[in-house]
Amino acid sequence: MASKRSVTVGGVQIGGGAPVAVQTMTKTETANLQATMDQIRRVADAGADIVRCAVPREKDVEALKTIVRESPIPIIADIHFNHTLALKAIDAGAHCIRLNPGNIGGPEKVAEVADRAKAAGVPLRIGVNSGSLPKHLHDLEMTNPVEALVTAAVEFVGLMERLRFEDFKVSLKSTSVPNTIAANRLLSDRIDYPLHLGITEAGTKWSGSLKSAVGLGTLLADGIGDTIRISLSTFHAEEEVKVAWEILKALKLRERGPVLIACPTCGRLQFDMDSVVAEVERRLEAYDDPIEVSVLGCAVNGIGEARHADFGITGAKDMGMIYSKGEPIKKVRTENLVDELFTEIDKYYASGKQVTRDATAAAEAAAWLAEEEDATAMTPERLAAMELEKAKADADAIDEALSPVAGRRFTRA
Ligand code: SF4
Repeated sequence: MASKRSVTVGGVQIGGGAPVAVQTMTKTETANLQATMDQIRRVADAGADIVRCAVPREKDVEALKTIVRESPIPIIADIHFNHTLALKAIDAGAHCIRLNPGNIGGPEKVAEVADRAKAAGVPLRIGVNSGSLPKHLHDLEMTNPVEALVTAAVEFVGLMERLRFEDFKVSLKSTSVPNTIAANRLLSDRIDYPLHLGITEAGTKWSGSLKSAVGLGTLLADGIGDTIRISLSTFHAEEEVKVAWEILKALKLRERGPVLIACPTCGRLQFDMDSVVAEVERRLEAYDDPIEVSVLGCAVNGIGEARHADFGITGAKDMGMIYSKGEPIKKVRTENLVDELFTEIDKYYASGKQVTRDATAAAEAAAWLAEEEDATAMTPERLAAMELEKAKADADAIDEALSPVAGRRFTRA
């Protein structure tokens, strides 16, 4: 279930039905003010709603005062082992403190932090990681790691409630994608506090993005999770933010900036689509509107599945075409496709989101498209459409009462 409760981190609501918040963590030494602030501004530009900074030393908590004052987005102080730093981070103005109640020195120290946080109106994130479970759960961890994680989280929640502190969100993370999914599903059934989702140490940009998309995407599709952080082994924290946004955009949970659609290419490709797609993606970064732009590697399918795109291009050897909402705009030389596409997009915005079409140019483009189209070709798109139709027909034939799995996608077992 989606979290009923919410916390507010420096003005950003998390939980209680608010849009899923994107967060990341700076990779700089926090005390290096120049580097840390540069990175915070970059992640804010990339769309981070909140950013977390590690605070392992006195000089970091000192720097936090300036960081909180100058940051364009709320700051979470990430504290381990040292509850004094947590107290100082609250005094420094941090908008939220992340701590693991299991490693901060015992319930009395947790109580001290909770009291100070309560007085300052600062929420906490209490975290449980697969690598740092309390000792008494180590045996359970060997036999049932998911239950061990959930038990630790529920125990911490109980501790906070006994301390009469309820202004917190919970994270429950594992390096295992299936365990993260199973544990968060169980936890969301047991508590109604906001959940922070992440896959611990997910890996490199490539594998980490995929693991995160599978793990977090599965939970988010279930309606579980109120804020996400993608953990990638890269110094460029903005890459984590971009991946988080792609996951949220793919699930239609939030909108931000353009959506690029590109065919996977196949043997029918007749122009250098790799560099065209990369160039289109790069130039789209300058736009904030959630415009949909499509790039097709050939015109064999006509405009086909890109019919809904706000703008698109398709090309052959020498010539290509620009279209909008399934209708041709003009034919252009392949080497000018990208420039002309952005000319049309800019005209669209300059005229208050009106597509401008010259009838002669559009007719020329339609004639070119008719020549290029081949209604008999078995393209990947047509095969996919046929498979989809067959799947729909098969699904219609399923007797729901007899099938134990029919209609159970995205539901908890
Ligand atoms: S047939 Fe489809 S996948 Fe192949 S190049 Fe054309 S549009 Fe791309």
